[in-house]
Amino acid sequence: MYAFQYRKAKTLKEAGELLARDDEAKPLSGGMTLIPTLKARLAQPTQLIDLNGLSELSGIEVKGDVLSIGAATRHQEVANSKVVRDALPALSSLASHIGDPQVRNRGTLGGSVANNDPAADYPSAVLGLNAKVITNKREIAADDFFQGMFATALEPGEIIVRIAFPLPEKAAYAKFAHPATGYAMAGVFVAQTADGIRVAVTGAGPGVFRWTDAEQALTKKMDAAAIEQLTLAADDLNEDMHGSREYRAQLAKVMAMRAVAAIAGKN
Ligand SMILES: Cc1cc2nc3c(=O)[nH]c(=O)nc-3n(C[C@H](O)[C@H](O)[C@H](O)COP(=O)(O)OP(=O)(O)OC[C@H]3O[C@@H](n4cnc5c(N)ncnc54)[C@H](O)[C@@H]3O)c2cc1C
Repeated sequence: MYAFQYRKAKTLKEAGELLARDDEAKPLSGGMTLIPTLKARLAQPTQLIDLNGLSELSGIEVKGDVLSIGAATRHQEVANSKVVRDALPALSSLASHIGDPQVRNRGTLGGSVANNDPAADYPSAVLGLNAKVITNKREIAADDFFQGMFATALEPGEIIVRIAFPLPEKAAYAKFAHPATGYAMAGVFVAQTADGIRVAVTGAGPGVFRWTDAEQALTKKMDAAAIEQLTLAADDLNEDMHGSREYRAQLAKVMAMRAVAAIAGKN
């Protein structure tokens, strides 16, 4: 680990000012990704600005048809929240299957979305629901937020404050987890909303993406059989020792079918 300064911000405003003053400073949330990255000397920030404990980044509430979750909310809190379970059970289920108990008790929604790991679970829900990422500077629609592997629309020093999830009519998430880490080999979030059906795939490609062919097929008939004959183009998918592109394409289709079946109450 390279040497760095540690600062604990007392307010969101202070955190924003500390980050704005130093392009090489980084926010710290659960540290589940950032600390191992520092230990492996893959990053060399000058300062870590600790966001833990900031009241502006906490809280879970439903207002109208929007579920708002503070960026510092830990995965386990999302999984356990009655508010989330009642309003958007697909999200509490998703959170309950992230990593292991240690990761769920430290990792945060904001850290996961900011990091945009190609195999992370939350990005599929954020994109699948076209949620708004609310930062200390602006609101960013999910469609504009995710920009490929570990890349987002966040500017250096910009802080995610909360995520606003529009509530769907129905939604479900299905993932095939990597047995060692819990990360998605393929995870698919399907949402049926007043504006149409959205299907977001994580784990299979270099970043979360929408599977528009599946959305069109499901718009005609909201039934798993409607996508059974589809083939997700494998050319741009991930390939590694754990699975070929074609295997991941097939896994993504099967996960999409499981999510649709769950929406239909068939599993
Ligand atoms: C063993 C293991 C297994 C895991 N399994 C899974 C899994 O199955 N599914 C899954 O989705 N994830 C998994 N994760 C990732 C984990 O869930 C964390 O969400 C993720 O590591 C980042 O969240 P964090 O709060 O720890 O962020 P940190 O590690 O603190 O930060 C990550 C990055 O985001 C930035 N950042 C943090 N908070 C903010 C903010 N509010 N605004 C702007 N930028 C910010 C940091 O500067 C850093 O660049 C796993 C991690 C580990 C170590």
